[in-house]
Amino acid sequence: NQSLAEVDPEIAEALDAERDRQESTLEMIASENFAPVAVLDAQGSVATNKYAEGYPGRRYYGGCEHVDVVEQLAIDRLKELFDAGYANVQPHSGAQANTAVFFALLQPGDKILGLDLAHGGHLTHGMRINYSGKMFEVHAYHVDEDGLVDMDEVEALAREHQPKMIIAGWSAYPRQLDFERFRAIADEVGAYLMVDMAHFAGLVAAGLHPNPVPHAHVTTSTTHKTLGGPRGGVILTNDADLAKKINSAVFPGMQGGPLEHVIAAKAVSFKVAMGDEFKDRQRRTLEGAQLLADRLLKPDMTEAGVSVLSGGTDVHLVLVDLAKSELDGKQAEDRLHQVGITVNRNAVPNDPRPPMVTSGLRIGTPALATRGFGPDEFAQVADIIAQTLAPDFDDDKAAVLRGQVEALAKQFPLYPSLAHA
Ligand code: PLP
Repeated sequence: NQSLAEVDPEIAEALDAERDRQESTLEMIASENFAPVAVLDAQGSVATNKYAEGYPGRRYYGGCEHVDVVEQLAIDRLKELFDAGYANVQPHSGAQANTAVFFALLQPGDKILGLDLAHGGHLTHGMRINYSGKMFEVHAYHVDEDGLVDMDEVEALAREHQPKMIIAGWSAYPRQLDFERFRAIADEVGAYLMVDMAHFAGLVAAGLHPNPVPHAHVTTSTTHKTLGGPRGGVILTNDADLAKKINSAVFPGMQGGPLEHVIAAKAVSFKVAMGDEFKDRQRRTLEGAQLLADRLLKPDMTEAGVSVLSGGTDVHLVLVDLAKSELDGKQAEDRLHQVGITVNRNAVPNDPRPPMVTSGLRIGTPALATRGFGPDEFAQVADIIAQTLAPDFDDDKAAVLRGQVEALAKQFPLYPSLAHA
């Protein structure tokens, strides 16, 4: 049993370099986070060796008595966290959680209604070359000129097309959705309402965002974004019949053996999410996003053509609008990379620039809040970002800002207890 460095020095070196990258830069990709060491430990455990097709107490393999404990704890904690009657913790990812729900409740060719990808929706909500776009007849709703989901359009499209499922949820949207109205529309046209809370689940768990579970027929999520756990997916419902259909769509419908090591890590992250430290972290996440939005709405930014979609944020991310700026999304992403801040460029609604360039940035605060950042640090970061997007940015300025980023990163060491491989 040799160490990773002995068995595979090339992989060990790449992983060490990745850890150094995470340590020395400021991670602001809105869908990323840092899982705690306890989660990494569970995921790197011997549970990776175990086959456990089936569900706790109903397995198709022997020797499942301990992974049954693991999976049952994950299920029970997830139900408690989101006040749900039934939970499935086996989907390998968020996309697979959504696939399982579609397989459980829809037939090929059925109509679905989701938020347009270019307006903040996810690939699995009906993008043309995603399986969701190929398997189903997709209709898309949009955001209005204020950047808010146009609920009147949702209602009109639902009445016109009578979809079998309405999907509420997003990958790039800075506000809360009106789950009650979504459900009323779904009920009126006899559709299922699926809420995909992948991005904002951590805020829900902390009580800082409305819980969609009581309103949706089915709620899906990832576990690795604001929730701060291992990469993976989950499905929740309060309906016993739907729960049965979903379980059988996940296994044997779509997956084979569950990843019990990942499920162990999910269980740990759900326990962490029940604590006061987690609530405080989500509060700082929201505060950080608001400080960033406020900074980017100041006159110096407005003069440079920089703005913020919907005029602010209620969640963990800010969508920067560069449609009126000389700087495009690609250049802005590169500039921020140069100073050590990682973000992703993002199309804005009705984007005048091509998809590989875009006119927007999506900037999120969950990973830095996990690292320990509070209002003072987020205010500094907001100012560094503003200076990086300003018209007078040059290599000299970049060097100074990079120094500030490194100092902030050093103040909040990441994984200090982990030795390099
Ligand atoms: N749903 C939403 C809203 C997402 O933003 C994402 C990820 O970006 C997913 C689903 C898919 O999750 P995964 O990348 O784990 O498949």
